[in-house]
Amino acid sequence: MTDTGRLTSAGWPELHDAQRAVLLEVLIHGSRSRADLARRTNLSRATLMRLTRGLVELGLVTEGQTQVPAGRGRPSEMLHLRAEAAYFVGVKLTGDALYAVVTDLHAKILATEERILPSRDVATVVGLIAEVVDGFSADFPLTAAGVCLAGDVTYSHGDSTVLGSHFLGWENVPLGELVHSATGLATAISNDVQALTVAHHWFGVGVGCTTMALIGLGAGIGSGIVVNDEIVRGSRGHPGKVGHLFVTDTGPVCDRGHTGCVSSFVTIPAIVANSGASGFWEALAAAAAGDAVADLALRNAGHALGVVVASLADLIDPEKVIITGEALAVARYASDELDASIRRHLDPAAEPVDVELVDFAFADYAWAAAIAAIRHVV
Ligand SMILES: [Zn+2]
Repeated sequence: MTDTGRLTSAGWPELHDAQRAVLLEVLIHGSRSRADLARRTNLSRATLMRLTRGLVELGLVTEGQTQVPAGRGRPSEMLHLRAEAAYFVGVKLTGDALYAVVTDLHAKILATEERILPSRDVATVVGLIAEVVDGFSADFPLTAAGVCLAGDVTYSHGDSTVLGSHFLGWENVPLGELVHSATGLATAISNDVQALTVAHHWFGVGVGCTTMALIGLGAGIGSGIVVNDEIVRGSRGHPGKVGHLFVTDTGPVCDRGHTGCVSSFVTIPAIVANSGASGFWEALAAAAAGDAVADLALRNAGHALGVVVASLADLIDPEKVIITGEALAVARYASDELDASIRRHLDPAAEPVDVELVDFAFADYAWAAAIAAIRHVV
């Protein structure tokens, strides 16, 4: 795509722009009739027929059943994506582990793998990625790889550099280049929450939205923003920083020393500290069992989360705000506080926000990394 430069991959044919536009239509929006595609891409039927013949010959799409329009109009052949035309590997790195998936061209997960990181040393982690990719390659001819992690990533001429990742202790790591050298695959590196935002926009609960935001709750809190169908990359690789927005001046203190910021309430470490529990799930269990301190910690987290939702909504006027991540249970537990806080902090003239809570598994980030790979190659 235009924002990061397209990667070239040995296993992927060179497409020209019009072919790519047709393929993207079918990839993102599902099977379409030729008449519909002609309308959506502003191509003549004759041009479209020539383009689709090329895509069929490359094995990327198939032509199927004829659709007979309900009203007047000629019957039109349907164009379907050939999901098995290419396979992609996606990897999510945390500070301790690696989660990997293989998907087809339609982002369906076909295989998964989890590994503990023996160390956070860059060469060791890259070596482990190569080992996992190698294992998958035996069953799937891979076209490209995607890797995502919590951290800031910048892009330049198709290369991506991890500027900083707190959980891995990395700074200025040319990870795209390193993984490419170790695996031989075209590699796309992304911030994990941004990758998940793009994934939901293309294939998940954000399909059909033009402008949307996604909030990832976990050890930290991050957000991804899509405006006019494009992910916002920012000028230095770190847009959507919502973790230290101000909530109140009489709250707990976050790890950066701010009193009452979002992170002092919403992150897993903050909830554990504020609840006095031994862990996140213990805090939820204690609150559900009537522990007043844990209950307040979670309701305060819901309130702070509402500040984030309202701030994003006020800035970009989204069709939807998705909340997901391993700490999603907070939003469910404190849904009343979340709703009240959104109403309180939203601009008085704004429409109510459509908030969707989306179940989460760690493989979701790996799935998102694979979709980043698809996106970068197509
Ligand atoms: Zn803070």
